[in-house]
Amino acid sequence: MKKIIIIGAGMAGLTAGAYLAQAGHKVEIFEQFPKIGGVTATLSKEGFSWDLGPMLIQDFRRDEPAGKILEDLGIYDKVQFLQSDRGLVMPEFDLWKPEKYNGRYWRRDKLIGLFPSESENLIKYYQFREKVQNLMAISRRIETATGISKLLLQLRLFFLFQRVKDKRAMSAAQLMDEFFKDDAIKGVFLGLLADFVTKPSEFPALGIPIINNENAFDIRVPLQVTSAGPRPSYQYILGGMEKLVSAFEEYILAHGGKININSPVDSLMIQKNQVQGIRLNNGTEIKADIILASGGAKEFFFNVVGRDNLPPTFVDKIIDIPLMESVHMIHLGIDLDPRKFQRAALCYYIGTNDVEGAVVRCREGVYHEGKDGFLIYVPSLHSPEMAPDGKFAMTIYTIAPNKLDSGTWTERREEFSEKLLVETEKIIPNLREHILVKEIMTPADFRTRTYQSHHAFGGRAPIMGKSGAPHKTPIEGLWFIGSQSDKTAGGLPGTMLHSKIVSKELLKTFL
Ligand SMILES: Cc1cc2nc3c(=O)[nH]c(=O)nc-3n(C[C@H](O)[C@H](O)[C@H](O)COP(=O)(O)OP(=O)(O)OC[C@H]3O[C@@H](n4cnc5c(N)ncnc54)[C@H](O)[C@@H]3O)c2cc1C
Repeated sequence: MKKIIIIGAGMAGLTAGAYLAQAGHKVEIFEQFPKIGGVTATLSKEGFSWDLGPMLIQDFRRDEPAGKILEDLGIYDKVQFLQSDRGLVMPEFDLWKPEKYNGRYWRRDKLIGLFPSESENLIKYYQFREKVQNLMAISRRIETATGISKLLLQLRLFFLFQRVKDKRAMSAAQLMDEFFKDDAIKGVFLGLLADFVTKPSEFPALGIPIINNENAFDIRVPLQVTSAGPRPSYQYILGGMEKLVSAFEEYILAHGGKININSPVDSLMIQKNQVQGIRLNNGTEIKADIILASGGAKEFFFNVVGRDNLPPTFVDKIIDIPLMESVHMIHLGIDLDPRKFQRAALCYYIGTNDVEGAVVRCREGVYHEGKDGFLIYVPSLHSPEMAPDGKFAMTIYTIAPNKLDSGTWTERREEFSEKLLVETEKIIPNLREHILVKEIMTPADFRTRTYQSHHAFGGRAPIMGKSGAPHKTPIEGLWFIGSQSDKTAGGLPGTMLHSKIVSKELLKTFL
């Protein structure tokens, strides 16, 4: 039995904590904030509740990677999921799912109707995306396959890969230029990259079909359309994301683990390149055999571990980690039924087709004030208990620079929130007259919540040729997990899956 300390009670720390406690080790988690969950949390005020981070999440069906984590721990039934989809509105047209289902290519066909001169290009692009989706489906199956069936899947993967190999080194921007002429179509498939604050010229081409899964836009698109295997599904967590956090908390406590809040880890105790324990900011020292840290990689390795304890090559790796930017969020309690203006709980409103320019400006600290796009999420539509009877809980959020080029988020929070509401009123007229409760969250609030000096909403940016912080560090007994670590595939499921993989790898080292 080892004493294992985990720094950070976000979903990365909680997932690792659950697996390590399950294996019989003594787990103790230290969280600097008064609440656990990190950005996977639910905020409540005056009868309204809103989710802070993830909203419509991928891969949580029982047989999918994140769902399997809950199954491994026997807590799947503690959380209620609702499979769903979201809307997409572009600057010049919308891609809301049609009332009558027109088959799994309805988005392609609608685009053909709008851009007839691109019809052949759209058909070719959708053929390419089918191949990539099949590749992904097979690789997901390989993860759990064994013996001969694993070998056969690997062979199939190899042959299928040959059919898209020519695009392996291409960027998303090059891919779109190869298929399409019209920027408005390119914008449909590139729009989500603005959310990742990643330029299309930096993002891998093969990632484009993966982030534009058709099921995300219409739940009626079957998950399994070929023998390659099922494609990812999308779910809401009923009652808010905190239900997921509570299920993990209960599990860890029931397995002898301990979770400490209001406990910022200030430094590590290290002797002869081996971790000995942690030191809290009140000076308390706690010994441990193993430490797993999550949160900001630069903040952790430079402020908590200290550059002097790390080899220069490792320091360079950490400096080189590309980060996403932050978010500006307004949570509202309203007495207006938003369904008149938005027909589903979640919709992305893309304001520009120039994703490359939007990302450059955001990284330079220039806030778009909602003009480049935002999303509107109404969790009380799927979870009525998140608002009082007849009222609605609504979140409006958009990508925003961690630091502004002019002024600070604290100084400009009201001004920018008013401007974002003005943009939102283009979708929901007179929204401001129906506000009963308002909670603003700026990047400054997210920095406090996550203990980061650079809040990166989804962690490391998925840029070709770049990586996150290595999960195995040069210090014996010190491991790194979370949304800024090396192998995480991003988002909530990717972060949780990475914690599972690292925990299993760590457990093997004890044998
Ligand atoms: C607005 C928003 C929307 C999102 N939308 C989606 C989505 O739709 N789908 C999706 O899949 N993902 C989404 N994500 C991303 C996803 O939520 C994150 O990738 C994931 O939750 C990260 O988990 P984590 O544990 O790595 O980090 P965090 O949740 O940030 O947790 C890290 C924790 O470590 C603590 N900590 C850090 N340093 C210390 C220290 N020294 N001492 C003590 N505690 C410390 C922090 O306080 C924090 O609680 C979204 C994120 C945000 C912010």
